[in-house]
Amino acid sequence: MITQTKEITPEYDSKTIAKLKQIVGKNNVISDLEGLYAYSFDCAHIPFSKEYPRVVVFPENTQQVSEILKFANRHRIPVIERGAATNHAGGCNPVKGGIILHFSKMNKILEISNQDLTCKVQPGVVVGDLQNEVSKIGLFFPPDPSNLAVSTIGGGIALSSGGPRAFKYGTFKDYVLDLEVVLADGTIIKTGAQTVKNVTGYNLTQLIVGSEGTLAVITEATLRLIPKPETTNVLMAYFNTIEEAVNAVSTIINNHLTPSVVDLIDQKTVQTIEAFYPTGMLCDKEAALLIEIDGDDASVKHQQEKIISLCMENNAQYIDCAKDEEHKKRIWTSRRSAFGACAQLAPNVITEDVVVPRSKIAELSKGIIEISKKYNLITMIMGHIGDGNIHPNFALDLRDKKQKQNFEKAKAELFKLALSLGGTLSGEHGIGCQKASFLPIALDKTTLNLMIQIKKVFDPNYILNPEKML
Ligand SMILES: Cc1cc2nc3c(=O)[nH]c(=O)nc-3n(C[C@H](O)[C@H](O)[C@H](O)COP(=O)(O)OP(=O)(O)OC[C@H]3O[C@@H](n4cnc5c(N)ncnc54)[C@H](O)[C@@H]3O)c2cc1C
Repeated sequence: MITQTKEITPEYDSKTIAKLKQIVGKNNVISDLEGLYAYSFDCAHIPFSKEYPRVVVFPENTQQVSEILKFANRHRIPVIERGAATNHAGGCNPVKGGIILHFSKMNKILEISNQDLTCKVQPGVVVGDLQNEVSKIGLFFPPDPSNLAVSTIGGGIALSSGGPRAFKYGTFKDYVLDLEVVLADGTIIKTGAQTVKNVTGYNLTQLIVGSEGTLAVITEATLRLIPKPETTNVLMAYFNTIEEAVNAVSTIINNHLTPSVVDLIDQKTVQTIEAFYPTGMLCDKEAALLIEIDGDDASVKHQQEKIISLCMENNAQYIDCAKDEEHKKRIWTSRRSAFGACAQLAPNVITEDVVVPRSKIAELSKGIIEISKKYNLITMIMGHIGDGNIHPNFALDLRDKKQKQNFEKAKAELFKLALSLGGTLSGEHGIGCQKASFLPIALDKTTLNLMIQIKKVFDPNYILNPEKML
């Protein structure tokens, strides 16, 4: 384990704040206790320590980020990067106090090239805003971390976020060509090239992608774009068992069809959505599949017909296929309401994020149900079944000691189960604080040590997002 060399002290804070105000301007600094409290958690609201940030800063350009890091590194002050804080894993919790770097003022789309099919953006750009902007000229940025209206490009790159469209289009890592990053000592570097092909030296770009802010601060990204599919359609297919839903997906894939989205929603999730945001889903079936297809008109029609018939072959009980834009929106709204609906059940909703080979999804789902029964937990299962990525949502009250203990035990069993099925701890939300202590069961000692050495090369004073991942 790596340990921090010097703790921030209260006397130190006033000097720190004064220096930061000098770098970014006094209107770009929050240092009052009420303000700081709001930046102590990510959206899961789990207190991993009693710490809160000593200051939140909103840099407006790369030079300011560099100045902040030079100062923080000199004084061994933790720096925690924060986008929209939707990561769920305690990825931007300030567990050692320190400075929160908030990127909402570095939110410009700097360039979109129709000719090169690339764009250059700042880290605070909201994913949905980029998608809308490139769509105006017939281009597409596929990664969709299911909350496009708020989550940022910086957070998406730092976690290599995926989402429903990863099955066909891959995750953030497949779209990052070049990064401008600031190293822990304030040095500004470029990691890649503006080209789609590039094998010049080690692939530092992909080392930074998914590194959860522990190696460097992302200040600009060049991203690959693709032509926007002409049209899409979506359907919801209902099955009596999760196993039948999984079999239907395998049949679809074995028939060489590649839907843009194949998401699983279990009965408890459907019932919860219908209880709080009713859209007319069927509540009496064990599993629903949301399937989206895209392409030109003829291809979408052809894929849709085949998928409907393959679902029926696998005993689908009912298929709700969108007939117009309004209908499409309704089906997608039900899927996107899932987390919000679960959050109505208890003060906390903890979304887990395990991934297994697709063939093991039914076994994993059965195991999750057994673990939840054993520990008396309310659990709703959903996920990107096409990628084998399952998100059990646990609704509980963390103030209740017994429930908290039960959840910790259930979590450990869930991770062991995923590993025993040939899977791993996280498909897209990252390790953060939430899973850091489980890394040694997922990685061998030599691999883990190599990762620790890499961290030391990039961040010898251990100031960047401490206590996350390693
Ligand atoms: C309802 C809901 C549904 C979700 N569904 C999905 C899904 O389907 N797929 C999926 O992949 N995720 C999903 N997520 C998780 C989350 O939305 C994504 O991981 C998202 O990409 C995180 O973006 P953010 O801006 O909120 O990042 P944050 O949570 O703010 O940060 C994430 C990590 O990136 C680091 N970071 C942020 N900015 C920078 C930077 N500039 N430089 C270096 N490091 C940085 C942070 O320190 C942290 O470690 C979901 C979350 C919610 C709440």
